[in-house]
Parts: sequence; structure tokens; C-alpha cells
Amino acid sequence: MSASPSIDGIAPCPAGTPFSFEVYPPRNEAAARSLPETIRLLASVRPEFISVTYGAGGSSHASSLDVVTNIVRNTEVPVMAHLTCVGSSHEQAAQMIREFLDAGVRQFLAVRGDPPEGSASDAALGDLRSSAELVQLIHRIQAERAPYREIPVPGLPHASAVGRRERVTIAVAAFPNGHPRSHSLEQDVDTLLAKQAAGANLAITQLFFHAEDYFAFAQRVRDAGVLFPILPGIMPVTSPARLKRMLELSGEDLPSGLGIRLEVEPTDEGRREIGIDHAARFAERLVAGGAPGIHLYTFNQPHTALAVLERCGLIDAVPTS
Ligand code: FAD
Repeated sequence: MSASPSIDGIAPCPAGTPFSFEVYPPRNEAAARSLPETIRLLASVRPEFISVTYGAGGSSHASSLDVVTNIVRNTEVPVMAHLTCVGSSHEQAAQMIREFLDAGVRQFLAVRGDPPEGSASDAALGDLRSSAELVQLIHRIQAERAPYREIPVPGLPHASAVGRRERVTIAVAAFPNGHPRSHSLEQDVDTLLAKQAAGANLAITQLFFHAEDYFAFAQRVRDAGVLFPILPGIMPVTSPARLKRMLELSGEDLPSGLGIRLEVEPTDEGRREIGIDHAARFAERLVAGGAPGIHLYTFNQPHTALAVLERCGLIDAVPTS
């Protein structure tokens, strides 16, 4: 379907609006078999990047690295590797960063990760207490490996000049409605400022369902001095069960209209259509209000994510398998 003005009068996203995807490492053999095709489809529409999640405590280390390597070797799309530091020693975190740099990664999403349920002690956090410390460590290790860049000098084939070193992109997590453990919205602003001071240069949000929450948050952090872009994370919700699970995980408010429509719709196809349409209209609203792009949580379901992009006018057609 081609992009048409939405029912609430918001225009399709302007051509060139940046978009990106999140995938997670496969959790079983069937998922592992379908992942290369998922990546091929997502890469074919040339997103800004594809991000790959990483299990807290290193639980998905090998599979995340595999997916990242697949994207580096088989596509021209930049990969953004999520890294977590919870439960790691300083040496383990440094080793993990080196492995991902060796795999060709130059964009990271540094998150702390959650300690295992029930482990309230500080020891469970490991040596790095927050994502800000992980951001610093990534920059430090990258600087050790590539302290400067050599630039060819025109006319002098054997000479080179010393240039500024390559800086990696380091994104961090942002929570428009506050981190579930945070004591106040001010604490979330302070946390984001700490991440910026540590060297982060992009934030991606936790999912949320009300555009006003994003706009208010973006304004609040901007007023406090956060300069980097805050990319909204959007999840197409295609089943009441997924909506319920996501609300439990994120602590977000139920978007009642969407919840009711998904509950009363009798068919899977109908629910998928509702989820795609809702996500597309949400993306249009966010971009019209100033969001710098959209980041889609794909749940490794490329056709749904691509249908959202088509519906909000960012691609002409969903590529075929
Ligand atoms: P931090 O920034 O370290 O913050 C954690 C808590 O400490 C917050 O309450 C914060 O307010 C407080 N805090 C930290 N620093 C300060 C400070 N300087 N001053 C005051 N308070 C401070 N989890 C995974 O396991 N794997 C993933 O791949 C993953 N990807 C994610 C992607 C996105 C876009 C998002 C939004 C979340 C992701 N998460 C992931 C979840 C994340 O690990 C959890 O939400 C975690 O609880 C917090 O991570 P953080 O990086 O925000 O932590």
C-alpha cells in the first residue's frame, strides 16, 4: 500500500527521515536458520544501522557476536552492537569490547543490563556500576587501539600526516517515562547528562506509547543540556499477549485504544494490520513533532517492520523474500 495521509491528518514521514532496526540473537535453531534472510531483507532498504541486542551478564555473547559478524560481512549497513556491563569484571568488559572492535564494529549501544532477579547486592552489578562507565571504557579502548589516523599527503607517496583519531558512535538508553528504578524524572535527566559527559553521542528510547511523553522528555533533557539526538524506539504491537508482556517489562501505561482494538479483533491478520497501522501513525506523529528519526524494534519479524516503513512513506514497497 502506498503512503496516504493518515486518518488523524498527520502527513507521511518526509523522504530521507532516518530509520534503523533492532534485532536480537536467535534463541533456537529455527530462528538461527531464518536470521540471515531477516538481515538480508532489513538491510535491503538501507537503514542507518541495524542494532543487535546483547544478553545481560554475557548470556548471548557468542550468538550476538555471530549476528554482528554476519551483518558486517554480508551487508553494507553499519551494525550497532549493544553491550552490557552488569556482572562483569573490568577485564571481562574490556575483553568483550576488544572482540567487537575486532569484528569490525564501530557503533555501540552501551547499556548496563539488569542484574539477575533477586540479587539486590552491589556485588551483583560488577566492576562497572553504570552504562556511563561502559561508555568511557569503550572510548578508552578504542583510543588505545587507534590513537591517531594517518592521512595521505598529496604529492608525497611515502608520507602521511597525523589526523584526529576515528571516534566510535556510542548510543545509550533513554527512558521517556523514567527508568523503572529511578526515584524521579530529574534522576533520569542527570543520568543522561552523565552518559553525555562520558562520551555518548546518541540515545535510543525505551518503548513508550504516548507521543507527548517523548516530546516532554526530549524538551526536559534538552533544557538540561543534553545535546545528542534522542531517537524514539517504536514497537509494532501485533498481539494482546505481546502488548501485555511489553507493558510488564517496561512499566509503561496501557494505550487503552490499541489494547481494546487488539482484544476485539478476531484474526491474526487483522491484529497485525492494527499493529502496523498504529506504529506507522505513531512514527508520523513523532517525526512531525521533531523526532530525529525512528528506531524500530523488529522482534526479528522483518515483514512487519518493513510494512510500518511502507505505511509511513519511508520505503516504496516491502521487499519480497
Ligand atoms: P544506567 O545508565 O547504568 O542506569 C541504571 C540506573 O542507575 C538508573 O536507575 C539510573 O538512573 C541510575 N544511574 C546510573 N548512573 C547514574 C548517575 N551517574 N547518577 C545517578 N543515577 C545513575 N538490556 C540488555 O540486557 N541487553 C540489551 O541489549 C539492552 N538493550 C537496550 C536497548 C534500549 C534502547 C534500552 C532503552 C534498554 C536496553 N536494555 C538492554 C535494558 C537496560 O539494560 C536496562 O533498562 C537497565 O536497567 C538500565 O540500563 P542503563 O544503560 O540505562 O543503565
